[in-house]
Amino acid sequence: MKLKFWGVRGSIPSPIQSQPISQKIVAALTEAGRTGVNLQNKEAVEAFVAGLPFTVNSTIGGNTTCLTLESTDQLIIFDAGSGMRELGRYLMTREFAEGKGRAAIFFTHTHWDHIQGFPFFVPAFIPGNEFDVYHVHPYVPDVLNDQMDSRVFPAQFAALGATFRFHKMDVGETVSLGAFSISNIELQHPGKAYAYRVEKGEDVVVLATDGEYKRLDHPSLKQYIDFYRDADMLIFDAQFSVRESFIKEDWGHSSGLIGADIARAAKVKRLVLFHHDPTSTDDEIMAALQQTREYLTHHDRRGPVMVDVAREGWEVVFNSAGDFQVEEANVDGLICLHLFGQFDARATETFMRSIVRVGQAHQNETIVLNMAGLQEISVAGVRALLEARGDVYNLAIVNVPPNVYRVMELSGTVDFFAIYPGLSDVPH
Ligand SMILES: [Zn+2]
Ligand SMILES: [Zn+2]
Repeated sequence: MKLKFWGVRGSIPSPIQSQPISQKIVAALTEAGRTGVNLQNKEAVEAFVAGLPFTVNSTIGGNTTCLTLESTDQLIIFDAGSGMRELGRYLMTREFAEGKGRAAIFFTHTHWDHIQGFPFFVPAFIPGNEFDVYHVHPYVPDVLNDQMDSRVFPAQFAALGATFRFHKMDVGETVSLGAFSISNIELQHPGKAYAYRVEKGEDVVVLATDGEYKRLDHPSLKQYIDFYRDADMLIFDAQFSVRESFIKEDWGHSSGLIGADIARAAKVKRLVLFHHDPTSTDDEIMAALQQTREYLTHHDRRGPVMVDVAREGWEVVFNSAGDFQVEEANVDGLICLHLFGQFDARATETFMRSIVRVGQAHQNETIVLNMAGLQEISVAGVRALLEARGDVYNLAIVNVPPNVYRVMELSGTVDFFAIYPGLSDVPH
């Protein structure tokens, strides 16, 4: 299944301002001057830009909450914040333009930032499209109707062309949609919000946005830890710093560091900071990410929980089938390739393509292979690792799972590699 983030902000849409854009341009040009990239050559410039840190060549995005999970036969939308407008534009390039679209929409709750994109969701206007809306709050149909009242919006809900079917769920109820199973738990939030745990095969994604964890003792957290347990990804309300979450009691939000504790206790593989504060700049959000990573490193060097920030347009593919995947990322200035799945003979071509491309884009830099997501490696995979050393300036390997390390030992190659416990241990 594929996850995509269409809106990642909390509270209110917050488009990037002109000053941070100027700062990004200044940072990019300064770096171009330092590295001496050939500015006359478009391909060289493009490769240079692609290699810049995320905060320089891109942005987190300002749209409010909207995500999709999709498999070959199901499309599930979570929340209808302003990111839903962009989702609608994309769906109109597909079967939804012809009135042949089908999707489920799950609502966590009905605060503005989770519904305000709905009136601008074009597929809802197209006759023939069908939407099944799932909600725990009984008043979700009324709220969708009321926010399109003629006093505040020109088009009314009742006049929408698409068909809507509403399904009221109980707290704790599990809904099955094809191969997906979706359960919910109540979160502490003004007016209540509901977290969703989505399972498909062995893949588990939890969306836990708009939740406050006021009491941090184990009995109070236990129900959440149980609900989030063993998730491949926990998407977590990190609107506040820890300090803010203590001061702004009852505002209904949490922080990355509290998420780190819960993720660790629940043995979550990847924590994703989400529902960013509208006042936070890209740099501030990345600083919160850095703090969360640092906290986890200090806290526990054994089982690494990967931490990321949600940003608009980010796609993540989950595959319990073990298909090999490579995801490129710039983590605190380090060029990283996250490896997932089974690294065997079928994977080497994909791996080498990524290595060659990254090696060319980042000459004279250390390339880090993060193996936390690898399920296993074969000798063919080890052989590809050896070859990779020739394609990059400097290769570092981190977060090697014990079974993968053992294969490297058995093949007598451990000493060929620079292996570090975690990302923060790589010298740079
Ligand atoms: Zn919210
Ligand atoms: Zn809310």
